[in-house]
Amino acid sequence: MSRDTSEPIFLSAIEHYSYCPRQWALIHLEQQFVENVHTMRGNAAHRLVDDHSIKQDKGTRVERSLPLYSIKYNLVGKADVVEFHADGKIYPVEYKHGRKRAKKHDELQLAAQAICLEEMLGKPVLSGAIYHVTSRRRREVLIDDTLRKHLIKTIEDMRKYEATSTLPPVVNDDRCKECSLVDICQPSVMNSCRHENISDLFTVEDE
Ligand code: SF4
Repeated sequence: MSRDTSEPIFLSAIEHYSYCPRQWALIHLEQQFVENVHTMRGNAAHRLVDDHSIKQDKGTRVERSLPLYSIKYNLVGKADVVEFHADGKIYPVEYKHGRKRAKKHDELQLAAQAICLEEMLGKPVLSGAIYHVTSRRRREVLIDDTLRKHLIKTIEDMRKYEATSTLPPVVNDDRCKECSLVDICQPSVMNSCRHENISDLFTVEDE
């Protein structure tokens, strides 16, 4: 399962890892993916802004589906929306399905977009927003030092897992109820195995 750690990390993968490291590994290291109602709703939210358009809105330039990268952290991806305000403020907006509610993994993905924009444009990005499609409300997120440190630690942890041949352990909690990979992952079975110290049997070997 280990892979070349010189490959870039997708910005969306950071959100997956933050939600559940095992989910990230199954999707991004083992290329296992299954749709469910939650993934389909998420895709629908992104399609609302997936037109690569550039528009002016009351003095603000609004770019959609903007490609992003960071050479420093070896990241690639795109921002749903980036607003370039007349006063110089650069403001990424990430679209999510569902109602307005705080989720740390959404914030990490937004912070990753911010550090990409800072590197690409040479200007600070101090805040952004999560736009919740169902409630049509924005939640502003400050890209502060605490969030930046959390992001960098997350990237380091992902790189460590990439270099190993071991899947992260199951979380086996409420996250599994919404996870499209639950049938592949078998969290309750794996959790039983872990408690019986036989989970090593399920370690994935390199081909
Ligand atoms: S089923 Fe649970 S443990 Fe398995 S990948 Fe999904 S969230 Fe993670």
